[in-house]
Amino acid sequence: MRKRIIAGNWKMYKLSNQAADFAEQIKERITTSDKVEAVICPPALYVTDLLQRFETSAVKVGAQTMHDTDEGAFTGEISPAMLADLGVQYVILGHSERRQYFNETDETVNKKVVAAHKHHLVPIVCVGETLEQREAKETVSIVSAQVEKAFADVTAEQAKKSVIAYEPIWAIGTGKTATAEDANEVCGAIRHKIETIYSKEVADAIRIQYGGSVKPENIAELLSKDHIDGALVGGASLDPEAFVQLVEAGT
Ligand code: 13P
Repeated sequence: MRKRIIAGNWKMYKLSNQAADFAEQIKERITTSDKVEAVICPPALYVTDLLQRFETSAVKVGAQTMHDTDEGAFTGEISPAMLADLGVQYVILGHSERRQYFNETDETVNKKVVAAHKHHLVPIVCVGETLEQREAKETVSIVSAQVEKAFADVTAEQAKKSVIAYEPIWAIGTGKTATAEDANEVCGAIRHKIETIYSKEVADAIRIQYGGSVKPENIAELLSKDHIDGALVGGASLDPEAFVQLVEAGT
């Protein structure tokens, strides 16, 4: 049985007092469960504060991106060693916004995935197609190629611990969700790709999330599908009440 994972990607939202308020509101309401884990990925500036606030809570903290080397002259960047040093457990990698606005490519995403594992950070590897690609029926080939490239030089043991987030770009922040059936079909294709790269054992272990306009109203149906092990949530994760409901839907 795969443990579900509901992760909130705050993107570039909230000021420090809003982040603190959110944490105080949810920290006691989300309890340890063997069915679901909850992760909040705030802007990097708030990581330390949230780690402290969630210290006695079941909520884990993740980063939204990182550099691929331990240290160096890379002004403005944050290294995997720094995240691990603070106690961060997850890191979102290759989000479509990073690919679109910050020149991330399959190759740079792969370097980061390898670097995350080196520091025992669990990467949440994002893949997804554009509307054009979906309409051209290229979804499975695009997403499979992204997965294959992201996992180059990643061992089977590391792959098992990884999380993949299938986020169709046309569904992000648009209010348009893929139907649960479509999302499940693509997540199934991703799992199949993992099986061809590694083995059935790895494919059965790896967790695959859906992301794109996930809300308390549609989470149950998404989670009812056999290949969908959780959600990567943007907008709805900014609201403490909605986040708690999303996590509860996974229990
Ligand atoms: P929304 O949930 O706001 O559509 O964002 C999805 C996303 O990009 C999560 O990483």
